[in-house]
Amino acid sequence: MLTKEKINALKSLDLRAFLFDMDGVLYDSMPFHAKAWTYAFALEGVTFDAYNVYMREGMTGSSTIEEVFRLQLNKQATEEDCQRIYKTKADYFVSLGQAPEMKDVDTVLECVMKYHLEPFLVTGSGQKTLIDKLNHSFPNVFKKENMVTAFDVKKGKPDPEPYLMALKKGNLNANQAIVIENAPMGVRSAKAAGIFTIAVNTGILKDEELWKEGADLVYPSMKELRKELDTIIEMSSMNLPSNHLKTAK
Ligand code: CA
Repeated sequence: MLTKEKINALKSLDLRAFLFDMDGVLYDSMPFHAKAWTYAFALEGVTFDAYNVYMREGMTGSSTIEEVFRLQLNKQATEEDCQRIYKTKADYFVSLGQAPEMKDVDTVLECVMKYHLEPFLVTGSGQKTLIDKLNHSFPNVFKKENMVTAFDVKKGKPDPEPYLMALKKGNLNANQAIVIENAPMGVRSAKAAGIFTIAVNTGILKDEELWKEGADLVYPSMKELRKELDTIIEMSSMNLPSNHLKTAK
């Protein structure tokens, strides 16, 4: 998977941080989101299946509702529509219980921490319950100041705004971070922000949907990503200050 071209791209980085998406990356929550969206739109008389949910994953709730209204009902969603449908979706999502942590993502986070790289959270989710859960699931990994959520952004993914905001919060250049995403809209957002993007296809979409948006690498699982992560990090860290210091001595 790590071709010569990809290794050269990694060597041009000056890696300091990993920017993690949440749903479908840290938590296996997409099946719950799919059920909740399908239910909330069904109450409005709109058919919205799981594939459609996965294709729009990462967008804010309002953007999703506005787009579905435009495409399927040929009308503009009002703020009241957005609030009503999103509330139904959010309540149903909560009623499904806690989504489990993504299998093997803990080993990916451990690896990132081992190299003293800064982990950031970049999510379009505004689910307070899930965000609170982060510290319980992954203690001492994500600092509050290293989180970008639906409350921080105006546009949300696929706009580059959330990833640009994470770079700003971390005082980072685009070549100092790697993004871990699972969704086409998320990959588009990260690439538009100019960041090296690894997609882990944890859902029901074909890999092509992720390559098409410009993913630099695509893995079928966290376990497969973990196998190459040391190499990825070592290739991306050849310009770190510690190495400069060693050279200077
Ligand atoms: Ca996601």
